[in-house]
Amino acid sequence: MPDVILLGAPGAGKGTQAQLLQREYGFAAISTGDLLRDHRARGTTLGQEAESFMQRGELVPDDVIIRMVESELPGKPVLFDGFPRTVAQAQALDALFEARRRPLPIAAYLKLDRARLEERLLGRWTNPRSGRVYHATFDPPKRSGIDDVDGGPLIQREDDRPETIARRLDVFEGQTLPLVAYYEAGNRLILIDAAQSVDAVSKALVAGLGLHQRAR
Ligand code: ADP
Ligand code: AMP
Repeated sequence: MPDVILLGAPGAGKGTQAQLLQREYGFAAISTGDLLRDHRARGTTLGQEAESFMQRGELVPDDVIIRMVESELPGKPVLFDGFPRTVAQAQALDALFEARRRPLPIAAYLKLDRARLEERLLGRWTNPRSGRVYHATFDPPKRSGIDDVDGGPLIQREDDRPETIARRLDVFEGQTLPLVAYYEAGNRLILIDAAQSVDAVSKALVAGLGLHQRAR
């Protein structure tokens, strides 16, 4: 099974798809956003370093992110969600894989227009304990504000506010979008239309990554 990078703007559906693929195919999922939020909740030095960047919707410096991913990289196939976000991070990830003699990861670009991204982020409700997400319109929980699975409260992320959303989408277009060309040039990009239903996106990913032959 390949290592997979879920590439896409905030709100494209990376976390939603990561949870499905993790459950169905036994990937380990690494979400740098979730790892950073966990560091902040625990008040670690790394969490404190990251805080102001995250509040402004800016990227946390590459060296901090790369060190964090390096220390978390497991032996089994990984799904990267929200990483890499810059060309420097992508190069560092490739160097790490090469040093470990591991085949380079494949990137799946979940492409979605800005209006739909905003709509998804504005309606997102998150379980801060598990990372599971809902959407007020597209995938509401059974009881408003309550997680179906653990019965605890759902929150709206502080960076899912209109001003911060606009900044995050600008940062994506400026700093992360060049990765599409980076992976295309390496012949390891698949393009997914993220405007489809959760189920259809998932099917497209499974087919594009050739996972159906590997179902357990
Ligand atoms: P990302 O991890 O890329 O930021 P999420 O997976 O958190 O994105 O999804 C953003 C929001 O959009 C969530 O509220 C989620 O429920 C919703 N969502 C995800 N995929 C779809 C889809 N295919 N159609 C409609 N809504 C979706
Ligand atoms: P996410 O949960 O992926 O939307 O990430 C939330 C925030 O965490 C981002 O707006 C950034 O501030 C920070 N972040 C997450 N992943 C990265 C990364 N790979 N590089 C830099 N900053 C990141």
